[in-house]
Amino acid sequence: MIINNSLDEVKKRENALSIIKNHVETKGRSSLFDLTGLAGGFIASEAEISLLETYVGPAIFEDAIQEVGKEHMGGDKVLAVNRTSSGILATILSLVSEGSNVVHYLAELPAHPSIPRSCKLVGAEYFETDVFEEFTIPDNTSLVVVTGSTMDHKVIDEDEFRQVIEMAHAKNIPVMVDDASGARLRTVIYNQPKACDLGADISITSTDKLMAGPRGGLMAGREDLIDEIKIKVNQFGLEAQPPAVLAMVNGIKNFKEENLIKSFTKKDELYELLCENFSNFVKSPTGVMIYPEGLSKEVSVSHNLSDDDLAYVFSFILLRDYGIITIPPVSMPGASATIRFELSSSDAINLDLKDLIKKIEASFEKLQDVVSNEEKCKEIVFTF
Ligand SMILES: *Cc1c(COP(=O)(O)O)cnc(C)c1O
Repeated sequence: MIINNSLDEVKKRENALSIIKNHVETKGRSSLFDLTGLAGGFIASEAEISLLETYVGPAIFEDAIQEVGKEHMGGDKVLAVNRTSSGILATILSLVSEGSNVVHYLAELPAHPSIPRSCKLVGAEYFETDVFEEFTIPDNTSLVVVTGSTMDHKVIDEDEFRQVIEMAHAKNIPVMVDDASGARLRTVIYNQPKACDLGADISITSTDKLMAGPRGGLMAGREDLIDEIKIKVNQFGLEAQPPAVLAMVNGIKNFKEENLIKSFTKKDELYELLCENFSNFVKSPTGVMIYPEGLSKEVSVSHNLSDDDLAYVFSFILLRDYGIITIPPVSMPGASATIRFELSSSDAINLDLKDLIKKIEASFEKLQDVVSNEEKCKEIVFTF
């Protein structure tokens, strides 16, 4: 096994960042293609940057985020936090009591790890399912969670979404929606309403997923709950700092639905080309992806690696040799090892698809050459 625990994940991420730095220093930023769909943009003017002081910044940008945030997310009030995970943690710290139940419905397992981890921290019982018929709300439930779009971009069915909210509200239980990518994917590509407009009490999105904003979380919802959560957010230092809030405001203002819609059609072309040589790539809403199990089926050489390890080695080869950044090398502990090629990213806009295919194929050949040598694979993942 190559990646065994959270420490291994931290180490592989450090190595990935060294590889990226080396690309930038030796060949320039243009040698990299960030296809993660998490671009972490920072749009800001000189005049705005000069206002970034501890108290002046919030006075200006917190007001602005209320305005553009409510337009983007719906709800009565918004709250900018450090990450989506921070918003999830703060909500669970505020609304979930020890020994109570938290139930979660999502289109496809697994849930983002911040949800079960936060429940564990407060001593709550946590249940999750992706089978709608099996979803129930037991007695003593303090929070119902719905994921709008999973880490692998599986989007919830709108009718099921409405029914879960109805079931929760019939028992007076608040609903928190993890809409990290869903706030844009569900609404723009699937034409679903905003989570707050569907009745969610709290909805949280990630401001660098499918938009040019910073890594950060934006929560929206019922004013009384947001106020309650804000106390925890401030007590534990989970709030977004003024520079991030500024970049969130501008990221949302610059969000263009057309770019998402364009990638929705371009991905079909990429998918067709990949099918000429592979049989396990699948379409995601705005790109193509390969699950670790799918990748494992493509490999014809015998080896002892787990499916996830194969995905890490393959994605590190893509990064090291071809400058293609996908999520597995750079992700935080517990994230999915699925390799997605996101065509909504700004680097993808000018990308020649035939060239991308060549790079993917060449990387796959290299993967086949090394899989039987576990030491070599470890070296690819951990050493620069
Ligand atoms: C990305 C993601 C998160 C976490 O976002 P962070 O900014 O890393 O905290 C939570 N839930 C889902 C479904 C996600 O895709």
